[in-house]
Amino acid sequence: MEKMPGYEELRQRVEELEREREKRLAAERDSARRQGYLEAVLKNAPDAVVTLDSFHRVVEWNPAAERIFGYSQEEAQGRDIDEMITHPEETEEARNYTCRVLSGEPVDSAESVRYTKDNVPVQVLISGSPIIREGRLTGVVAIYTDISERKRMEQKLQDMASTDQLTGAFNRYKFLECLEHELKRCKRSRAPLCLLMLDIDHFKKVNDTWGHSIGDQVLQGLVQTIAKNLREVDILTRWGGEEFIVLTPDTDRQGGLAVAERLRKAVSEHVFPRVGSVTISLGLAQHEEKDTADSLISRADRQMYLAKEKGRNRVE
Ligand code: GH3
Ligand code: MG
Ligand code: MG
Repeated sequence: MEKMPGYEELRQRVEELEREREKRLAAERDSARRQGYLEAVLKNAPDAVVTLDSFHRVVEWNPAAERIFGYSQEEAQGRDIDEMITHPEETEEARNYTCRVLSGEPVDSAESVRYTKDNVPVQVLISGSPIIREGRLTGVVAIYTDISERKRMEQKLQDMASTDQLTGAFNRYKFLECLEHELKRCKRSRAPLCLLMLDIDHFKKVNDTWGHSIGDQVLQGLVQTIAKNLREVDILTRWGGEEFIVLTPDTDRQGGLAVAERLRKAVSEHVFPRVGSVTISLGLAQHEEKDTADSLISRADRQMYLAKEKGRNRVE
C-alpha cells in the first residue's frame, strides 16, 4: 500500500520526462528544419548575402557572393569585407556604410562599385541591416545585388536617347541641351564660342547615283573625318539629313574660321568608298552677348546658305 503512490508518482515523473524529451526533440527538429530552410535560402539567393561581425569581418559568405565576387567561402571567411572588395577610393565610403549599419541607424540601400577577386568592377546595390541577438548588436547582414547589366542597359538607353543611330554623333535633342549649357557658361565666364553649320554639297546626287545605303556610308565617313579634326570638347551633332553642327567652346571668330577651314579641307581630301570625293559648305556664327540658341543657329544657317550661293565647298 505504501509503494503504490510512490510507483504512481514515479510513473507520472517518467511520463513527464518523456513528454519533455518529446518536446525538446520536436524543438530540435524544428530548429534543424529552420536551419536547413535558412541555409537553402542563403544557398539559392540570387544576391550575395554576407554577414559580418562587429569588426567588419566576414562570417557568412553565400554561393552568390562566391559567384559575384569570385572569392570562395574559405577565402572570404574572417577577412575585412571593406578591404576585400573595394579599391582604396571606395574603402572609406564602404567602411562608413558598415559603421552606420552597425550603429543601428536606418540606412538606405546605396548603389556603388565593388571589385571581384580578379579586379573586375561590379556595379552593386547594397543594403545592410544590423543583426540583433538577445538585445545585443552582434554584426551586420549585407546584401549585394549585381546591377551591372541594368547599369549597362541604362547607359545604352541614355546613349540611344542622345546620339544619332546612323553616325553616332549627338542628336538634336542632346545638342540643344549642350548648347544651353554652353550659353550659360559663356554668360558667366565671357569665354568666346563659335557655332558652325555644315551641309554636304549635292548630296542628293550621291544618293541618286550610288543609292541610299552608300549615301548612309558617306554620312558615317563624314562624321568620322570631322571628329578626327576636332578637340575633345567640341560638340558634333547631326542636325538633320546631311546637315551637321559643330560647337566649339572657348573659340573666337578667328579660331572658328580656322576649324571650319580645317574641316572643309579634310572632307574634300577624304576618299569615300565608291563615291570618291565629297565637299561641304560651312557657315560660322560667333556667339554674341544677346544671343539665344535660336539666334545663334539661325545666323550660322544663313552663313551656310551664303556659302552655297557663292559656289559651295567654302566657309562663310
Ligand atoms: P546642296 O548642295 O544644295 O546642299 O544640295 P543637296 O543635294 O545636298 O541638298 P538637298 O537638300 O536637295 O538634298 C539633301 C539630300 O540628303 C536629300 C535626302 O534624300 C538626303 N538625305 C537626308 N538624310 C539622309 C540619310 O539619312 N541617308 C541618306 N542616304 N540620305 C539622306
Ligand atoms: Mg546638301
Ligand atoms: Mg541640306
